[in-house]
Amino acid sequence: MKQFDTIIIRFGELYTKGKNKKDFVNRLFYNIKNNISYEGIEFIKAHDHIYLEIKQDIDEKNLIDQLKNIPGIYSFSLAYKVKASEEDIIERSYEILKESPTMHTFKVYARRIDKSFPIHSDNINRLVATKILKNSDYKVDVHHPDYLLSIEIRPHFAYIFLRTIKGLGGYPSNTMGGVLMLISGGIDSPVAASLLLKRGVHLEYLHFASPPYTNVAVIDKVKDLLNVISAQQSHVYLHVVPFTKLQEEIYRHVDESYAITIMRRMMIRIACKVAKKRHLLAIATGESIGQVASQTLESMKVISDVADEVILRPLATYDKVEIIKISKEINTYDISIRPYEDCCTIFTPKQPKTKPHLDKVLAFESKFDFSSLVDECVNNVETIKLK
Ligand code: ATP
Ligand code: MG
Repeated sequence: MKQFDTIIIRFGELYTKGKNKKDFVNRLFYNIKNNISYEGIEFIKAHDHIYLEIKQDIDEKNLIDQLKNIPGIYSFSLAYKVKASEEDIIERSYEILKESPTMHTFKVYARRIDKSFPIHSDNINRLVATKILKNSDYKVDVHHPDYLLSIEIRPHFAYIFLRTIKGLGGYPSNTMGGVLMLISGGIDSPVAASLLLKRGVHLEYLHFASPPYTNVAVIDKVKDLLNVISAQQSHVYLHVVPFTKLQEEIYRHVDESYAITIMRRMMIRIACKVAKKRHLLAIATGESIGQVASQTLESMKVISDVADEVILRPLATYDKVEIIKISKEINTYDISIRPYEDCCTIFTPKQPKTKPHLDKVLAFESKFDFSSLVDECVNNVETIKLK
C-alpha cells in the first residue's frame, strides 16, 4: 500500500476556547514540530487543522506512536492529497481502496469544506461509489462499513483517507501554567502527573528524601519515571527535599498514630512554600479517596488545613486497578514496582489514624519548633535539572 502523503491533525476540545484558541493552536503546532523526529516533513498550520506533508519514506508506526502521545491532538487521519477535480477524486478514491488490504464493504463520506466546489457531497458519494462498485467486488454498507472512505474537499485540494486515529485529547503542553507535583516513586504519583500533563499543565516535581532511611537509588528511580512521563517537556526540574531531620523530630514528639498525619502536613507546608518560590499555581498529589489511612476525607481535611495553595488530586476517584492499568499504558509500572523505601513507609505506624482530630494534631505540633525545620527543608532543597 502506498504511503499516505499527508496527516490531517484535529484539535477537538480547543475549538471551545474562543480567543485563546489561537495561542493554543500555536503552542500545539510548536509542540508537534518539536516532538516529531523526522526529516522531510513539512508542517502547515491552518485555522482548523494542522497538516503534516510527508515528503519521504517514514516509519509509519513510529510516527503514529509519536502523534498519539502529544496532548491536545484530538484525532488525526492518514490521508492522500489530490487535486480538487471530479476526475482526480474519483480515480484516487478507487485506487486507494484497491491498494488497501482487501475487505468486503465500504461507505463514501464526502464533505465540501469549499462550498464553491461544483458537485454536491451526495453526488460525489454516488460517483465514487459507482466507480468502486463497477470495478471491484466491494459492496456498500452504510451502517458498519469495513472502510469509511472519507473525502474532504478544500480549495485547490481534496484529502482522501481511510484511517482516522484517536489522539490523547486534552490541551497542548505548557498552556495551563505550572504545578508542583509531589512524586514518591510509587505507582500513583506518576499516573497523576501524566493526567495533569495531558491537561496542558507544566509540571515541576518535588520529592521528599530521608537518607539514610531511604536509599539514594530512589532518586534514580524518580528520575527514570520522569524521563518516561515528561517526554513532552523541554526541561524538567526535580526538587529534592532533605526531610530526615524533620521526620526524626516528628517521631520524637508525636504519638505514633498521629505521625503520618503530621508528616503529611509538613510535606504540604513545604510544598506550598516551594510552589510559591517557583511561581507555580498549585500543588498536586497522587492521592485517591480512601486508599490508605492518610487519604480518608477526614485525613485529607486535616492535612489540607495547612495548605495555602490549591491541591490537585487527579486520582481522587480512581481505584487502584484503574491506576495500575494506566501506569502500564504509560510505561511507568515496571519502574514504579522496583523495590524501594519511601519516606512514608519507613516509619509506618501499626495503627495510623483514619480520622485524626485537628485539636490533637495542633497539640502535638505545639511540642516542637517545626516551622524553622520546615524553612530549613525549603532552603536546602536540591534542584536537579533533567534533560
Ligand atoms: P504513590 O504510589 O505515588 O507512592 P501511594 O499510594 O504510595 O502513592 P502515599 O505514599 O500515601 O500513597 O502518598 C500519597 C501521595 O503523597 C503520593 O501520591 C505523592 O503525591 C505524595 N508522596 C508520598 N511520598 C512522597 C515522597 N517521598 N516525596 C514526594 N511526594 C510523596
Ligand atoms: Mg507512596
